[in-house]
Amino acid sequence: MNDSLQRFLFENAPVRGELVHLDATWRAVLERHAYPAPLRDVLGELMAAAALLSATLKYEGSLILQVQGNGPVRLLVVECTSDQTMRATAKWDQSASLPTGFRELVGEGRFVITIAPTDLAQTYQGVVDLFGDRVSAVLEHYMSTSEQLETRLWLASDAERATGMLLQRVPGRGKDDDGWNRAVILAETVKRDELLQLDAREMIRRLFHEEDIRLFEPRIVSFRCSCSRDRVINMLRMLGREEVQGILQERGTVEVGCEFCNRQYAFDPVDAEQIFVADVVTPAPSTRH
Ligand SMILES: [Zn+2]
Repeated sequence: MNDSLQRFLFENAPVRGELVHLDATWRAVLERHAYPAPLRDVLGELMAAAALLSATLKYEGSLILQVQGNGPVRLLVVECTSDQTMRATAKWDQSASLPTGFRELVGEGRFVITIAPTDLAQTYQGVVDLFGDRVSAVLEHYMSTSEQLETRLWLASDAERATGMLLQRVPGRGKDDDGWNRAVILAETVKRDELLQLDAREMIRRLFHEEDIRLFEPRIVSFRCSCSRDRVINMLRMLGREEVQGILQERGTVEVGCEFCNRQYAFDPVDAEQIFVADVVTPAPSTRH
């Protein structure tokens, strides 16, 4: 089964849907960090949710979902580009053994959604308090309060895959007033194992076999990290020559690791000098403390 997003539409009801299935994309995340199982499963659910959401929003660039909490898991981050490339990471207290359950892991906090357009136009950011005790509840709450779109999500994740289904009410479409309620009731019967095991067509056939459903061409989803040596160089430039020299004196090299893909970027004193060559032309301001 390929990693894909499958869009579908109820022909006679105001309902559209998306199904996502992440195998290799999800395993690429897991290969790079050893996430404890309870954390792994909520991060997988957030990854599936980000893919589903990316399919319903119009943007060119990056969609970034963040769960920021005060529990043993302080941060979950998932990024999905408009080309459906994805990456994810988490920050957690590695000295503690983690509890099970989304709210037990993240505690109180907020959910932040950022849309960063490729053309560097205005970044959009929406923030809501964490709501409910599941990743799906947080997303549903955000969609109803910030986007005014009635949306339901069903998410599942394990060591092999991250999957999910989204239903969204489409205002003004179709004459079947009961269609939305009916679709949700049918979708509520989905089991975790079905989400994890069934491909999109089989899932739709099983859940909505009495409905008239239009299927769209599936879109491929894949793992890709957008980090690069150039980006790290820019970051070191912003950090400043003095700071970088300080690290070099202390450790001999400057090493920067990407939190998403774990790739390590190392700079020896010669490399580090190259970074600041441009400074010779534009002298740094002579601030003294
Ligand atoms: Zn990276």
